[in-house]
Amino acid sequence: MSEPDLQEKKPLILIVDDEKTLRLVLRHAMEQEGYQVLEVNDGDQCLAVCQQQLPDIILLDAMMPVVDGFTCCAQLHTTFGEQCPPILMITGLNNQESVDRAFEAGATDYITKPIHWAVLRQRVRRLLQTQWAMAQLRRKIEHERLLMAQLEAANRELQRLASLDGLTQIANRRSFDECLQHEWKRLAREKAPLSLILCDIDFFKAYNDTYGHQAGDKCLKEVAHILHQAVRRPADLVARYGGEEFVIILPNTEVKGAVLVAQAIRSKLQAEAIPHAGSQASGCVTLSFGVAGMIPRPGTSPNELIAMADQALYQAKLEGRDRVVCNLVQVSPSIPER
Ligand code: GH3
Ligand code: MG
Ligand code: MG
Repeated sequence: MSEPDLQEKKPLILIVDDEKTLRLVLRHAMEQEGYQVLEVNDGDQCLAVCQQQLPDIILLDAMMPVVDGFTCCAQLHTTFGEQCPPILMITGLNNQESVDRAFEAGATDYITKPIHWAVLRQRVRRLLQTQWAMAQLRRKIEHERLLMAQLEAANRELQRLASLDGLTQIANRRSFDECLQHEWKRLAREKAPLSLILCDIDFFKAYNDTYGHQAGDKCLKEVAHILHQAVRRPADLVARYGGEEFVIILPNTEVKGAVLVAQAIRSKLQAEAIPHAGSQASGCVTLSFGVAGMIPRPGTSPNELIAMADQALYQAKLEGRDRVVCNLVQVSPSIPER
């Protein structure tokens, strides 16, 4: 393994020992290895220094007055958890019980006095290398976690974009097809009604011709917004069906309810009064609506329902536009007297 930690930045060693002479000798040995050294003479000071700056390794004397090395070691782990630097316990006690206590308290390694200097150097070096490798691994894992999160966010955004109509920002034809298939099957199982509203802007070619294509685009956005505002239930879906034609899926809704939604949209559009000088139906932008509904039959496709709504829309156009026709029966406005 390479040792970039030793080259990039001098590792910081914290020496904790109540014997001044030993601290000096340890400091000398560590400095000769090219490390930076901090030294303190008891467990409390050790904790205080670590609060300020975490060293790369702690050489901890086991036997100290007040707070001994075992207690200090346990406290370091409690305080710093995963961030706790490796702790090399140095002690004159060379019995099974002390060794066990040291490791139980969380010591990473253990050497006995009198210090065998070559052993100490190797242990410190090895602990630093392990520490460095662990930190690298943690950084790598964190980096990969970040990349994964970014990838997931990008995928979600891509999916969102793929399901939206670029101009109006409502659902696109693809989303409509998917949603209709899904709801058709679901409601066939539930034996519950599904209604569709198809609507188309009246004389929209004339709108473009009068106001220009950009104004036409703006008008499409406004109409889409009104449609979007008109549906309330979470399962309802408003989509751009194509050109200046929109479609609304209303699951668990009877035709009667769908007609009310269409009429509400017609009123809202009337209230908005978007000028349309080229319209032969009104002085403002209007929509023609075809409404159809049924309880889906298992094993069939929703094409029949779409065809019914389409026929109703065709009928609405034929009868003079700016109206709601349901299952080929005109319901709005009331048939004018001739
Ligand atoms: P009708 O009342 O019978 O529906 O007449 P219409 O003029 O609305 O219908 P027609 O199908 O003849 O024309 C539709 C127009 O809608 C023509 C087309 O240029 C316009 N259109 C379709 N998509 C867009 C669009 O994204 N932006 C703009 N500005 N116009 C569009
Ligand atoms: Mg049209
Ligand atoms: Mg059209």
